[in-house]
Amino acid sequence: TTMDYSTNDSKSTSKKKVVAVVGGGLVGALNACYFAKRGFQVEVFESREDIRQAKIVKGRSINLALSHRGRQALKQVGMEDTIVSKGIPMHSRMIHSLNGTQSPIPYGKKGQYILSVDRANLNKELLSAAETYSNTKLNFAHKLLNWSTETGAMTFLRADGAKEEIQADLIVGCDGAFSAIRKQFLRQSRFNFSQTYIPHGYLELTMPPINGEFAMKPNYLHIWPRNTFMMIALPNLDKTFTCTLFMPFDEFENVTTGDQVIEFFQKYFPDAIPLIGADALKRDYFCLPAQAMVSVKCSPYHLSDKCVLMGDAAHAVVPFYGQGMNAGFEDCLVFNEIMDQLNEDFSAVLPEYTRVRVPDDHAIADLAMYNYVEMRSHVNSKWFLFRKYVDNFLHIIMPRTIIPLYTMVTFTRTRYHEAVKRWHWQDKVINQGLLCVAVSVVVGSYLLVRYPPNMPNISIEQLWTRLQALKSPFCGFVG
Ligand SMILES: Cc1cc2nc3c(=O)[nH]c(=O)nc-3n(C[C@H](O)[C@H](O)[C@H](O)COP(=O)(O)OP(=O)(O)OC[C@H]3O[C@@H](n4cnc5c(N)ncnc54)[C@H](O)[C@@H]3O)c2cc1C
Repeated sequence: TTMDYSTNDSKSTSKKKVVAVVGGGLVGALNACYFAKRGFQVEVFESREDIRQAKIVKGRSINLALSHRGRQALKQVGMEDTIVSKGIPMHSRMIHSLNGTQSPIPYGKKGQYILSVDRANLNKELLSAAETYSNTKLNFAHKLLNWSTETGAMTFLRADGAKEEIQADLIVGCDGAFSAIRKQFLRQSRFNFSQTYIPHGYLELTMPPINGEFAMKPNYLHIWPRNTFMMIALPNLDKTFTCTLFMPFDEFENVTTGDQVIEFFQKYFPDAIPLIGADALKRDYFCLPAQAMVSVKCSPYHLSDKCVLMGDAAHAVVPFYGQGMNAGFEDCLVFNEIMDQLNEDFSAVLPEYTRVRVPDDHAIADLAMYNYVEMRSHVNSKWFLFRKYVDNFLHIIMPRTIIPLYTMVTFTRTRYHEAVKRWHWQDKVINQGLLCVAVSVVVGSYLLVRYPPNMPNISIEQLWTRLQALKSPFCGFVG
C-alpha cells in the first residue's frame, strides 16, 4: 500500500508542474491543450487581448490550408472534426492563364484534398478548447518582455502598464516568427540562427460572392502564376474568396494610384477584375501596405530542461508549401510522442525533441523556399506539368515505390527530411527511366524508317546482324 501511495504521490507531484506557454496563437493554443491533457498546470500568456471578444482581429493571412499533419495533431486532442467541419475542401489547384482559361491540377489521388480554414476561427476554437481544461489559465494582454535563463523568471507587461514576474517549471515559446523567448537563445554559445526576408511581399483582397454564390469554383485553390509574381485565392465559408497577391516589393511600389492598379490587373489578372470589382480593387489595394515574409531557421530548439521553442518561434517558413501551421501543429504532436517515450522527463525530452525535429523543420523551410519558385513559375512549364502527370501515374501503378513529393509532404506524416531524400532518389530514377524511354523511341523509330519491316523476308540472324551493326559508332553511315 505504501508503494502505491508513493507512486501516486510522485506522479501527482510531476503533474503539478507549471508549464508556461508563451503565445496564444495557433500553435500556443493547441500546445496548451496537449499539456493540459497530460495534467500539467498550464498558464498561457498572450500579448493580444482575447480575440474571441475583439471586434477586429489583427494578424496574418485570413485563411490557411490545413492538411494531414495539422489534422493528425488536432485529432490527438479531439479537435479534428470541429475544425474540419468548418473547412472547405480544395481537391486541386486551378491554374488561371492570361487568356482566362482555367485548368485544374489535382493535389493527389481522388479523395485527397487540403482544407481552407479561417485563421481567426481556428485560433478561437483552440483557445476555447484549452479553456475547457480546469488546469489551464489563459492570460491575455500579457506581453513577454524578457526572461532569465538562470532563474527561468519571466517578466510580462500587462495592458494596464504594470509588470508581472512569473516562474514556471517549463517555458514553451510559441510566440511566433519574432519570438521574444528566442532572444535569450541568441546569447547562448553554439546556438545557430538565420533569418532571410524574401524580396516578395503579400497583400490580401476580398472577392465577394455573386448573387449569393461563390464567384469562382469553390473547391479549388486558384492560382494565377505569372513567373516573377502570382496571385492565389482560397475560399471562405461566407462564400467570399481571399485573394493574396505575392509580388516583389519594388513592383508594389510602382503601383501607386487606383488607375495603375486596374492597368496592372488588366495586364496580368484580367479575369479577376470583374470578380473583385474595379472600385473595390482600387480601394482595397491601398488599405494595408504589403506585408513582408521571413524564413527563420535555428538550432537547438531547447535550452537545458527549462525552455523549448515550437511553431514559428522555432521555424518561420515562407508560406508557399502551406505547411507553416501544419509543421507547427506537428511539433506539438512530436513533442507529445517523445513525452510518452521518455516519461515526461524534461531533461531527456527537450534534447530529444531538438534531435528529432530540427532536421525536419529545416527541410520544410527549404522546401517552402523551393515552392516559392515552383508555384509562380514552374507551373507554367510544359515539362513540369508532364512530370507531374508522370509522377502521379507512376504513383497510381506503384503506390509504394513512387510517391510524389507533394503527397508525402501534404498527405502523410513521412518525416519532412526523409520526404526530401526520397524525392531526390525518385527524381533520379524517373528521369533516368524517361531518358531510357526517349532513347528507345528514337532508336526504334530510326530502325523502322531505315529498315522498314518486311518480316517474312528477314531472318532472325539477319535482324541480329543489323542490330549488331547499329552498335557500331558509325552505324549512321552503314548502308
Ligand atoms: C500569408 C501567409 C499564408 C500562410 N498560409 C499558410 C497555410 O496555408 N498553411 C499553413 O500551414 N501555414 C500557413 N502560414 C503559416 C502560419 O501562419 C504560421 O506558421 C502559424 O501562424 C504559426 O503559428 P504560431 O502560433 O507559431 O505563430 P503565430 O500565429 O504568429 O502566433 C504567435 C502568437 O504569439 C503572440 N506573441 C508574440 N509575441 C509575444 C510576446 N512577446 N508575449 C506574448 N505573446 C506574444 C502573438 O500575439 C500571437 O498570438 C501562412 C503564413 C502567412 C504569412
